[in-house]
Amino acid sequence: MADDAMQDILAQLERTLAAAAETGAPFVNVPPDPSLVTLLERAGREALRPVDQPAAEPAMPRAPQEPAPRLRTPPPGPSPATPGDQPPAARPSAAVGPSRPLAEIATLESLKFQFRNCQACGLAETRNRLVFGVGHAQPHLLFIGEGPGADEDAHGLPFVGRAGALLTGLILASGLTREDVYITNMVKCRPPGNRNPEPAELDACRPILERQIELLQPRLIVTLGNVPLKALNPAARGITRERGHVFQYRDWPVLPTYHPSFLLRNQAALGECWQDFRQALALAYPEE
Ligand code: URA
Repeated sequence: MADDAMQDILAQLERTLAAAAETGAPFVNVPPDPSLVTLLERAGREALRPVDQPAAEPAMPRAPQEPAPRLRTPPPGPSPATPGDQPPAARPSAAVGPSRPLAEIATLESLKFQFRNCQACGLAETRNRLVFGVGHAQPHLLFIGEGPGADEDAHGLPFVGRAGALLTGLILASGLTREDVYITNMVKCRPPGNRNPEPAELDACRPILERQIELLQPRLIVTLGNVPLKALNPAARGITRERGHVFQYRDWPVLPTYHPSFLLRNQAALGECWQDFRQALALAYPEE
């Protein structure tokens, strides 16, 4: 995809998010934006176009060729899980973990509470907020990233920075809101300097993620980038080869796609990612 098309998408995202902020609505619940869908649809078609076939698309803006996907109705159930608005936890003096077996923890709120002061790995030393996850408590789609960055660490919410704006745009373009899906990370605390989580940190956090998935019971997990791909499927080659190829993790199908941070740096991959989103929607909402 051309740079200017990517800039259009980002500018459109910024306008959408700013408009939502002006109305006082939380940005996590803005309506789908048809012009954003148009841009992403075009990117998806370009990704599928043979390299020697010239692009025949008119310059944007233009009307979508097919209607924007309608807003999907999440399954009935508890209201969206509480956002990560907890204040920074006071540092306990000793390691703090769950007070009972994980299998006995029956709600996301309780799971979050049990790990509020988690000291299971060194990331506890430098985190400001534990970023548990946010979204619908019984989602069709569960997105898993690597770990919180600086913005997420400051707000206690996953994917709220620049990469988060792109992920949010892709979700909105899919006819969903962030409250229809659930978003979390492999590790719940920020790796300093935004480095990748280390194997020991991934291992320390895995019980939380596993119980989270068991409680959420998503129809489909979408992993974002190499870190969650390799963590859930150690035999996987790399994201470039594996994206769009579903694998099974315990009881759940997993569709890997690119990490939004990668997409911000490699705009040509946005079309492939949009194709993955279309596949994810077909798998997670087969009835629509
Ligand atoms: N990158 C991630 O992997 N997760 C976040 O929450 C933000 C950026």
